[in-house]
Amino acid sequence: MDKSSQIYALFDALYTLEDIREVYRTSLPVLNPEEGLEVHDKLQKLKNILESLESGRGSQKTYIVNSLEPRIREEAYINIQPIQAGGRLTPEARKALISYADGYSVCDQCLSPFRLDKIRKPPLDQFHQELAKFLGMDEARVVPGARRGFQVVVNSLVERGDVVILSSLAHYTEFLAIEQAGGVAREVPSENNVVTGEGYRQTIEEVKKETGSLPVLLMVDHFDYMYGNEHDIRGIGEVASEYGIPVLLNGAYSVGILPVNAKELGVDFVVGSGHKSMASAAPSGVVATTEEWAERVFRTTGISGDVTGRTFGIKEVEMLGCTLMGVTVMTMMASFPHVKDRVLAWDEEVKKSNYFVNQFERVSGSKVLSETPRAHTLSRVDTSGSFDRVAKTHKRRGYFFSDELKKRGIVGPFAGATRTWKLNVYGLTWDQIKWVSNAFLEIAQQYNLDVG
Ligand SMILES: *Cc1c(COP(=O)(O)O)cnc(C)c1O
Repeated sequence: MDKSSQIYALFDALYTLEDIREVYRTSLPVLNPEEGLEVHDKLQKLKNILESLESGRGSQKTYIVNSLEPRIREEAYINIQPIQAGGRLTPEARKALISYADGYSVCDQCLSPFRLDKIRKPPLDQFHQELAKFLGMDEARVVPGARRGFQVVVNSLVERGDVVILSSLAHYTEFLAIEQAGGVAREVPSENNVVTGEGYRQTIEEVKKETGSLPVLLMVDHFDYMYGNEHDIRGIGEVASEYGIPVLLNGAYSVGILPVNAKELGVDFVVGSGHKSMASAAPSGVVATTEEWAERVFRTTGISGDVTGRTFGIKEVEMLGCTLMGVTVMTMMASFPHVKDRVLAWDEEVKKSNYFVNQFERVSGSKVLSETPRAHTLSRVDTSGSFDRVAKTHKRRGYFFSDELKKRGIVGPFAGATRTWKLNVYGLTWDQIKWVSNAFLEIAQQYNLDVG
């Protein structure tokens, strides 16, 4: 079953191609005879590598430099790590990666008015418009991660001492965005690990009573990072509009894997994560909003230099001018056609997720802590009553479990974790889903746990 020597050969071949590429990058307009010979030699090396790949033998690990080695996790294993599933690159993104990896690579044709979202070649302007449309919004900007999207909105709306309401299952980066703006965070308690419009209403009323004013912003996670539970976005949107408070939807676990139409959901801002859910390199993400709010959050600079009198055109303050000016945005763009398609297949992903959790719970003592049936592929599980019982007497303790999974070509669960932990089956094929499901049953049987 071990594919690793073949995968190492593949990387060796790719690295050799890069070495050939370097000859072209350091030459005059025509290669000199020495360079021609160098290319020839490297092509021979490449052919040898390809032969060993073809024969199934493969190669030893080739290092990039010093102890830097290729990462072969996605090729060698089925990876169910909770935060990595939706960020795996498409082949198109990997091609963009090798083509646009040089520093400011998207700036070749940056013409006046010199702003990232205005660049026509590569078609970043069009991409920004399509992104906004994809999210059911009027304006979108790319940002280095969902957290930077929260920062853009919170910094634009929140003054020192203002209250922001968020979910008790909110991600820490939402708190940090509020902290940075000097705001006060108030959590809405969850009921069965779900937050609702009524919950937000109660907290709004409490804040109103205590402070005499309304919170300035509501934040809510579409699907939270703890359980992958779906929250009452429409309900919260309705309550928000009664009070006239804007809502930010945190779509880190939804934008790019399932359809999200922010206006239909009744929210004012939506933030997505490129590296979590849009098959893009890190750090990348998106923040989008309506016409109404765009002017405020995407406001342009008004500052000038007191000595030089310089002004800075239409650069946007919250973006610090430009954001993703190279390979990160190119991976987003390259994956985008696939991403637009894949959100339409979300129902099938949910089916696979439910198939998996049903099989998973056949092991007596294994429980799913997320809401069921699952509406997402990220799930929190509890194996205290099953695999943790084995761990108690096993000489490898909790590591026995990761060992057994790895033997079956599966990685991702926190090494050593056998009580409560998370997994994400997003993007696995049916064959892989069945394989992973079986692996859990097999390990259970091997250690004499009951399988129903
Ligand atoms: C991962 C995650 C984030 C942070 O996303 P980045 O793109 O890494 O900034 C925010 N919120 C939730 C719910 C997340 O799961």
